[in-house]
Amino acid sequence: MNEKRTDINELGEFALIDTLTKKFTSYHNETIKGVGDDAAVISISEKEALLISTDTLIEGIHFDLQYTPLKHLGYKAVTVNLSDIYAMNGNPQQITVSIAISNRFSVEAIEEIYEGIKKACDWYEIDLIGGDTSSSTSGLILTITAIGRVEKNRIAFRSTAKENDLLVVSGDLGAAYLGLQLLEREKQIFNENPDLQPDLDGYDYLLERQLKPEARKDIIAQLYAFDIIPTSMIDISDGLASEIMHLCQSSQLGCNVYEDKIPLDPKTCTTALDFNISPVTAAMNGGEDYELLFSVRQSDYEKLITIKELQVIGHFTAKDNGIYLIDKQNQIFPIKAQGWKHF
Ligand code: ADP
Ligand code: MG
Repeated sequence: MNEKRTDINELGEFALIDTLTKKFTSYHNETIKGVGDDAAVISISEKEALLISTDTLIEGIHFDLQYTPLKHLGYKAVTVNLSDIYAMNGNPQQITVSIAISNRFSVEAIEEIYEGIKKACDWYEIDLIGGDTSSSTSGLILTITAIGRVEKNRIAFRSTAKENDLLVVSGDLGAAYLGLQLLEREKQIFNENPDLQPDLDGYDYLLERQLKPEARKDIIAQLYAFDIIPTSMIDISDGLASEIMHLCQSSQLGCNVYEDKIPLDPKTCTTALDFNISPVTAAMNGGEDYELLFSVRQSDYEKLITIKELQVIGHFTAKDNGIYLIDKQNQIFPIKAQGWKHF
């Protein structure tokens, strides 16, 4: 009998997934991509593929009900899943919702979560097609599976970037992380002195980025309209550093990313400094931005810059060159593996 006992933290999330899944083989030609991208890709016709992605949100790990409105929770649970379908350059169409609840929750409370789920379904035009309901001994658990479609010749894998392709990011980064820091700070103050009211005035943008993130359907539509097919893509759930590493490792490339190109909202910058964090660190290691990080051929540059809310932050290099962040003084820092969640 094998009595070896490896602690989960020794491996980290990504090595653990690899350890668990590497012995599985594929029995069906229809399975174009299994584990290792934002969504699985399944061939459904000569020209089209189905995209499938699952994510779980767990109370106490991914959200804190002390400051997360239930409606927002439902909305976010949907958008974070849709984000993975957009990250394949696809269009989500259906979701299933599985929920585990304890008797701590009233029917009205669960209905509120579903109001948020419905709001997201209406905004993104998604059909709720099923799910599962069960009881939980402790916290609330929400698992959503998103299903989408994509034309096979437009799929954006993580693994298909090429040397010299431009690295592009949508929106701005780091805001959701600072929203979380604000909520945590006010929670602590409230728990120490319940007479004090939370002071969150003027932080709407950061709070909204944390509590009610959107998936970038608009960017995927614009790329389609301008006939730009990303050569690779991933969504930014674990921080820019981690996602850059994923694209580089999957595509077997290195890259140079320029610090002064990383898009930051002014409120992110001022709030980061209040927390004694560098704004760039919030962007690199924060997470939950749900923006898109993708690459395009240099020849698409002129078309690309006509699309609003996109920023070229660097370019891919040969693998041997390594993965670097270059600061304003031209100093070079290796980007390290980040984004593993401790168990
Ligand atoms: P994302 O951050 O885009 O949601 P993840 O990091 O959660 O992606 O997952 C990366 C890849 O690993 C995906 O292809 C996902 O389907 C797969 N994966 C994650 N956990 C497991 C598991 N326990 N068993 C099989 N595949 C998994
Ligand atoms: Mg993803």
